[in-house]
Amino acid sequence: MSTSTEFCLEWEPINKDEWRGVWVFTEIFDNEISEASLQLLNPGRMIADKIGTELVSIMIGDKVQKHLLEPIYYGADKVIYVEDERLAVYTPEVYGETLLALIRKYKPEIVLAAGTLRGREMIPYVANSLRAGITADCTDFDVDVKTRDLIMIRPPFGATLLAYIRAPERRPQMSTVRPNVFKLPKRDESRKGEIIREYVDIPKPRIELVHSEYIKTEEIPIEKAEIIVSGGRGLGSAEGFKLLEKLANLIEGVVAGSRKAVDAGWIPHERQVGQTGKSVKASLYIAVGISGAAQHLFGIREAVTVVAINIDPDAPIFENADYGIVGDYKVIIPALIEEIERRKNVKKTDNKQSLQR
Ligand SMILES: Cc1cc2nc3c(=O)[nH]c(=O)nc-3n(C[C@H](O)[C@H](O)[C@H](O)COP(=O)(O)OP(=O)(O)OC[C@H]3O[C@@H](n4cnc5c(N)ncnc54)[C@H](O)[C@@H]3O)c2cc1C
Repeated sequence: MSTSTEFCLEWEPINKDEWRGVWVFTEIFDNEISEASLQLLNPGRMIADKIGTELVSIMIGDKVQKHLLEPIYYGADKVIYVEDERLAVYTPEVYGETLLALIRKYKPEIVLAAGTLRGREMIPYVANSLRAGITADCTDFDVDVKTRDLIMIRPPFGATLLAYIRAPERRPQMSTVRPNVFKLPKRDESRKGEIIREYVDIPKPRIELVHSEYIKTEEIPIEKAEIIVSGGRGLGSAEGFKLLEKLANLIEGVVAGSRKAVDAGWIPHERQVGQTGKSVKASLYIAVGISGAAQHLFGIREAVTVVAINIDPDAPIFENADYGIVGDYKVIIPALIEEIERRKNVKKTDNKQSLQR
């Protein structure tokens, strides 16, 4: 009797020449088109132009019609959509099967999707059903024009190197990208494109939704925030974040943190900035007690002005900051708060006096 188990991955060989076109799965969530999906039209356009093919946006949902032109304004050549009331409730299986039906019909060579909660859930389901493989969390793309192989670029675990990944045997080549890794392409309302409605056999979900409720918080998500005050391990405790919150409230910002601050339980994971957190595009990013590891810096590539506050003058964050303050945050932050409050009060008094005059 054999003691070892042999695994054999069998699949039908495919003819790569039958697969053409670059697709971007364009999510609609809570009746809004996902900005993270539209951002993918940026690399999507570059890839499609290089290999001389069309860029297609795919939309699935119960009410998608009012969004159909947006992908075209942002660079898509075509929109293919499925609108059906049975898609009102998202489940990975039902959405995944709908996307699968479209892929099997049209045979795109590349499918990109945003690494949102839904993207991270349903795209691997689709990739696995097609035995296509998937590269998650890509940070850049290129394409081999000769073979039409997509070069999917991402940092490997823990390293500052970059991995260049290909899937030369299978189609479609599938990849997810976290929000804000790419900038939104320029919006141009004069662009024209084709819109195709598709009808697909939508499967019955295996789970029934009994009750659902959106918990909407007042807090702005960090990926959308204009001003961020971000804390790291240098804060020493959760108490330090209370100080950052006070500063953030004064300047109408939100609080975020490094992975070390998340690991310590001082701030929730959805507020983590970096490679395994979120990428931000704030106009002002204040990094407090954050050393500036490559994985953190990755998340602030799109931040406009970076201010670093760190006790160590040699901390790498200073090399990536526009302004640096060397010192203990317990001294610097209260001083900043005091000065901002003082200036705000002066302004209030000035306004009062000019009203009285
Ligand atoms: C696969 C992988 C993915 C990762 N993903 C992420 C990610 O998404 N985001 C992320 O942030 N990290 C990520 N990391 C971790 C990353 O490598 C660093 O370990 C982390 O960013 C360090 O966090 P930190 O700067 O808060 O802590 P530290 O590196 O410990 O830095 C603390 C800083 O605080 C300063 N300091 C200390 N006391 C004070 C004080 N009183 N006042 C002012 N400054 C002070 C110190 O001088 C120091 O520079 C990842 C790592 C791996 C391996």
